[in-house]
Amino acid sequence: MTQQNKGIALITGASAGIGAIYADRLARQGYDLILVARNAERLRRLAEQISRGTGRTVETIAADLTDAADLDRVEFVLKNEPAITMLVNNAGFGSTAPLLQADIGSMEQMITLNVGVLTRLAYAAAPAFVARGKGSIINIASIVAIAPELLNGVYGGTKAYVLAFSQSLQHELADKGVRVQAVLPGATATDFWNVAGTPVDHLPGAIVMNAEDMVDAALAGLEQGEAVTIPALQDIREWNAYEAARKAMGPGLSRSVPAARYRKQRLAA
Ligand code: NAP
Repeated sequence: MTQQNKGIALITGASAGIGAIYADRLARQGYDLILVARNAERLRRLAEQISRGTGRTVETIAADLTDAADLDRVEFVLKNEPAITMLVNNAGFGSTAPLLQADIGSMEQMITLNVGVLTRLAYAAAPAFVARGKGSIINIASIVAIAPELLNGVYGGTKAYVLAFSQSLQHELADKGVRVQAVLPGATATDFWNVAGTPVDHLPGAIVMNAEDMVDAALAGLEQGEAVTIPALQDIREWNAYEAARKAMGPGLSRSVPAARYRKQRLAA
């Protein structure tokens, strides 16, 4: 079961759901692990189970990443532990509440965790990976990054950020030996849905993937060198066409004159 040592993968939100499956799969691939989440006891149990099953070294850091001092501790480890070769930026939460009925404090917490924390951890890891000429950053976004009408709009906004930030990182780091992957899961059967406010069994079974299949597909996408992986999307040509359309607009997005349709409106006014 134990394979060649691939360095250490630091996984946030590793105590449950998608992060816990990443922990299991990466240990089986030969990574030692640093698992981060708030619930120390759940982390300890998972670490014990994984290290017993794979022989890998598994450490845990109990941290609330929205707490500045806790976040500092994790950033310190990312910056100073030279054996870390992978960051899985997975901790996050969502909401199914309509925008105007959602609590603004909770929306702000969501932005802090899904956007602020993810950015700070990427900034902690990336310079070290660049200096060593290797490393992988996996950012867990969501399909709502490109379909913000589906769930709570602040959640969609945070995940659109994760996608845009990942694409920008890919653009800047690709020639420095650093891999960046954005993963866009569709509905996945985890506690996420209880936290978000809609139990997962309220969703049609046909749109819900189990977390094991989701993570295995995402890791297959990483292996294939994909910059963006959408585990549920059956026909990759749809994503390629979407990206091609976005890039085709590029040269026309910034011009010295407004588009003719707006000039006409101005004359009519
Ligand atoms: P989950 O089962 O609720 O797991 C969330 C993980 O994040 C847990 O380990 C939780 O552990 C940790 N966490 C939450 N708040 C934290 C904080 N303040 N500090 C540190 N850790 C924290 O949900 P999941 O489905 O695995 O979600 C993982 C990621 O996938 C999220 O970014 C989510 O947006 C994304 N995603 C999920 C779905 C889905 O349908 N499930 C779809 C698309 C994208 P503790 O409670 O122990 O801290």
